[in-house]
Amino acid sequence: MINYVLNNVTPNGEQTINLSVHVMSVEKTLTCTQEDAVRNSCKKGCVNYGKKWSCPPYSKRFSDIIASKKCDIAIILVGYIRLDDMNYISNPYQQVKAANMILKGRCEKITRMIENELNGYSLLSGSCNLCKPCQRKMDLPCKKPTMVRYSLESTGINVESLLEKYCEHKLLWYKKGEKLPYTSVVTAILVNSNTLPGEDIEMLVKKYIENLNPNQLKNLPLLNIQ
Ligand code: SF4
Repeated sequence: MINYVLNNVTPNGEQTINLSVHVMSVEKTLTCTQEDAVRNSCKKGCVNYGKKWSCPPYSKRFSDIIASKKCDIAIILVGYIRLDDMNYISNPYQQVKAANMILKGRCEKITRMIENELNGYSLLSGSCNLCKPCQRKMDLPCKKPTMVRYSLESTGINVESLLEKYCEHKLLWYKKGEKLPYTSVVTAILVNSNTLPGEDIEMLVKKYIENLNPNQLKNLPLLNIQ
């Protein structure tokens, strides 16, 4: 596991993004796959079900993705912000929402950059927002089929279980009126280790993150790498 601390600046305040990177075999991630159960809970509880090309029932299943891309390694990125950093917002729900937006933007950008460097395939933290509205709502084909990526959950991964089993991280869920200590997002890059240079994958990822150009990650200079 590698830990990073990133500084983020918004017009109203500054947040520390705590980022950890975990490299594991896809066999491990498969132990946290419940494709039918997770997709059924999307069907029951999510407003995006059937309304976005990136969401179930249109999103691909995890097992199909790793088979078609011949991936044997999953690089899991866990980012979280302590909600004390969001105290400039008084409403606890709005704090979580704003922190999640920051995390989604920054962590997905880093994930796509590593995907590009390692010739991998990303799974992101929520539904695709590349166009608004999603073309699915008009019954039109996806506008950016090479860019669209699915969320980990939508492919059938039980993310809560994955984090507790292999990443020493607990997801917290917002309860009405209660302030959460922190909020998290999770992304992944699936890679085929045979296509990578013979270096340790964790070291490769470390190198890419250390070399991130702050201009590419606007307002996101690296502060500290542990
Ligand atoms: S790229 Fe556009 S059309 Fe395709 S899934 Fe994303 S939002 Fe929908």
